[in-house]
Amino acid sequence: TMRQILVLNLGSSSIKYELFDMDSGSVLESGLAERIGESESCLKRQLPQSSANSPSQTINASIPDHRHGIELIRRMLAENELFAGGEHLVGIGHRAVHGGERFSSPTLIDDKVIESIRELVPLAPLHNLANLVGMEVARSAFPGVPQVAVFDTAYHQTLPRYAYRYAIPDDWYRRFQIRRYGFHGTSHAYVAKQVAGHLGRPLADLNTIVFHLGNGASAAAIRGGESVDTSMGLTPLEGLVMGTRSGDLDPAIVFHMAKEAGMSMDQLDTSLNKQSGLKGICGANDMREILAMAAGGDEAAGLAVEMFAYRIKKYLGAYMAVLGRLDAVAFTAGIGENSPEVRALSCADLEPLGIAIDPVLNTADGGPVREIQSAGSRVRVLVVKTDEEFEIAEQTLACLQNDLG
Ligand code: ADP
Repeated sequence: TMRQILVLNLGSSSIKYELFDMDSGSVLESGLAERIGESESCLKRQLPQSSANSPSQTINASIPDHRHGIELIRRMLAENELFAGGEHLVGIGHRAVHGGERFSSPTLIDDKVIESIRELVPLAPLHNLANLVGMEVARSAFPGVPQVAVFDTAYHQTLPRYAYRYAIPDDWYRRFQIRRYGFHGTSHAYVAKQVAGHLGRPLADLNTIVFHLGNGASAAAIRGGESVDTSMGLTPLEGLVMGTRSGDLDPAIVFHMAKEAGMSMDQLDTSLNKQSGLKGICGANDMREILAMAAGGDEAAGLAVEMFAYRIKKYLGAYMAVLGRLDAVAFTAGIGENSPEVRALSCADLEPLGIAIDPVLNTADGGPVREIQSAGSRVRVLVVKTDEEFEIAEQTLACLQNDLG
């Protein structure tokens, strides 16, 4: 009998879903409900090439809220001959963003867990509220199907105390839970396993630095499969330069701009999260577009790419020191997987540290995991295609199996 897992990932105005057959690891259907609550809302559906129906469809439907979105997804799944009546669906895995200190592993969702996630809303208001809606709606749309929350922060709960605490009044941590949590944990965990699998070495013996470079970007230092440091902090704003987020900065800039430019806290929040990063420097936040602008001689775009890569290089150096012995560096997500320019620039001139990328391998095509270091490089450099949805499905299944005893 087939075991299917449905993965749900709710954003503020979108729902991503993916249905897996866990016995073959294949995707039976995936899709994205977009612009929920707006006039042009729609559902984009992807079916496997082998399907009798056309593999990709866009359904223009009014999706006033997430509840309607999940209902529509349920109706679409019911039309998929492989899903049928849902009798093979063994669980639903939810991408959950902020698990605070309470959740360090995938967790079976019940009323108490929902309550705990609600208590964590102040740490990630937009994300956790969307996640909660998803969990509550999915429970009523798929009654009796066990649901599991897989947290973005969970993987980083292994950080040592001296790495996750900020050097600020102790009371801020005790009363307001101000500490480093880190995000993209599902992706970092998946990529670290892929690296170990590809190199044929036990994860427990491998020291890896993973750079997840998408619209949001973060680095993780991983020792023996455990995250020991990561660049995002209390929120995803800290660390690397991102599409629209500043990453690291002197916190005094915030109160300077409040005083000198009369900006409000909300304006500062929006500026640093939505109008900074690559966009702040050159006006565009899409790396493909920025690389094209830079190639065309746009100076600001060139600077944005240099700053993006330089920040990566600084974290690479810092995390080499953290790990002591570095075995592998892995690049993943939209930019990490697709931009040889960014990879080359981030690792340029690091031969003295044992890291060198081969220019031919760097620009070659390849499978989901490939090595790009040059022959003389002591450290392996890999490009890994991430798959957060599949990792959520695997963790969901593992959680259900543990729960059944
Ligand atoms: P998200 O964080 O939204 O999941 P992705 O992982 O899809 O983001 O990454 C999006 C980023 O990847 C964008 O900046 C996009 O320009 C970049 N990207 C995608 N393909 C390429 C490419 N071929 N070359 C350079 N950048 C790319």
